[in-house]
Amino acid sequence: MMMTPLKDSCGRPLGPFSVIRERQRSYPVDVGGLAHDFGISVIRKDWPDDLSGAIGKDDKGYFIVVNAKHSEERQRFTIAHEIAHYVLHRDRIGKDGIKDGLLYRSKLSDIDERAANRLAADILMPADMLGRAAADAGGLKNLDQVAANLKVSRTALSIRLGLPT
Ligand SMILES: [Zn+2]
Repeated sequence: MMMTPLKDSCGRPLGPFSVIRERQRSYPVDVGGLAHDFGISVIRKDWPDDLSGAIGKDDKGYFIVVNAKHSEERQRFTIAHEIAHYVLHRDRIGKDGIKDGLLYRSKLSDIDERAANRLAADILMPADMLGRAAADAGGLKNLDQVAANLKVSRTALSIRLGLPT
């Protein structure tokens, strides 16, 4: 896929974190749109339940595969996690790509996987957006509504907030 990089007001291409920021003006974050911004295609496949997603590269560029059987919230987190692999270490996405199991474990190190999970949470739940989504839900006591506003799972939100899951 040919991509036209997003540009700032001076015509310079935006860095990856600015590209992410552009998609965080309102919730829920459009992760499919964000993948598109990076020129990554998203493919859904009926995979076994223990596989969440993968990122790979072919002649046409980068692509993300996501397990179509998982919930929409789960798929959104997986796409954000795979985008994080692209942003953080796409130089290490080799011929075989990176395949993530249910707990987001791949051939990469635990450090890489934790970093990808952290960035995925930052993509879907940046602090300012979390504050707005919580206020609109009537406060953090309405955790399910906050999660629904952000289109994330209650578990992902709880981890983000440092609450027991
Ligand atoms: Zn991963």
